[in-house]
Amino acid sequence: MKRFPILLNNKKYSTDFQTLPEFAKGWRTVLTKAHGSVGYCLCKPHSPDLRKISIKFKESTDLYSLARFGNTESEHDPECRFAQEYNEQTPQITSAGSNTGIEKTKDSVSVKFHIGINTAKKSQPRPSSTPSSTYTPRQQRVTIKSLRLLHLLWEESGLNIWHPAFTGKRTYFSAFQRLSSASQNIHVNTVNLHKILLLQTTQSSESNSGHNEKTASAAIANQQKLFIIAKLARFNVDQHTPYPTNLPITGYFGIPWVSVSSELWARTEAAQPSAYEHWKSGSDVIAIAIVQPATSKSSAALEIALMPVSEELLPINL
Ligand SMILES: [Zn+2]
Repeated sequence: MKRFPILLNNKKYSTDFQTLPEFAKGWRTVLTKAHGSVGYCLCKPHSPDLRKISIKFKESTDLYSLARFGNTESEHDPECRFAQEYNEQTPQITSAGSNTGIEKTKDSVSVKFHIGINTAKKSQPRPSSTPSSTYTPRQQRVTIKSLRLLHLLWEESGLNIWHPAFTGKRTYFSAFQRLSSASQNIHVNTVNLHKILLLQTTQSSESNSGHNEKTASAAIANQQKLFIIAKLARFNVDQHTPYPTNLPITGYFGIPWVSVSSELWARTEAAQPSAYEHWKSGSDVIAIAIVQPATSKSSAALEIALMPVSEELLPINL
């Protein structure tokens, strides 16, 4: 994921100007002035119709950031950060529709995830004909990845919003209860997310409910993959450098041990350098992992995504 020069109000701003600390003040002034106007990403030669960028302001962090226009990711160079499924600068994407991989109805959300949930080999034949009224041959099958799913779950739980009245009331315990109940209305590749989701818990609540353990056992019996969402344990230089051999999470009761290859860690760090850095600096980061369970005690991560959060569990815009 690379940053490229940006064209704003007919001026070109280099990658260095956007990222280096000595230019931070100047870059912020540029973004403040350009708020509301249209910019262009210069990952490819400039075109007035393509690779449009808007400047967003996020009240919760008091920061301006760049965001690509909806459904324009394919216009960018594959290396460009705006070509990615999710743009780290704008965690609160609320767009949904037939071509975003997310379909919302009044009381449920269906997402197309880029990794299959069922591990069992498909035996059902594909239907031989597709109703022509609903079939759009040229439309690409858009899927979402773990990070987008994590943000979607945050949105659906109302955890991306803050109100002064929440002060002192939003704890990890209450937040994860909300996540659990929101997951009941989300379907990932037609599988109910609640049935394949393991959430951070406390030892006593897990020993009472055994929810994670039951969910893990059922997924193994059904030959399904699992999602895990939990806060990362505090970064420990000795244990976590160069990379941890597992996913170090807090509240892991009932959750199988998650082994993570150093290649996957390297990919995760490369995709989300600022989020990874945030964790290394000792700050709070929520992790999501999709795992292939081997037994109820061990699993292997297939994809990891990180979301830095504030003390109030609000996603932080880095
Ligand atoms: Zn670009």
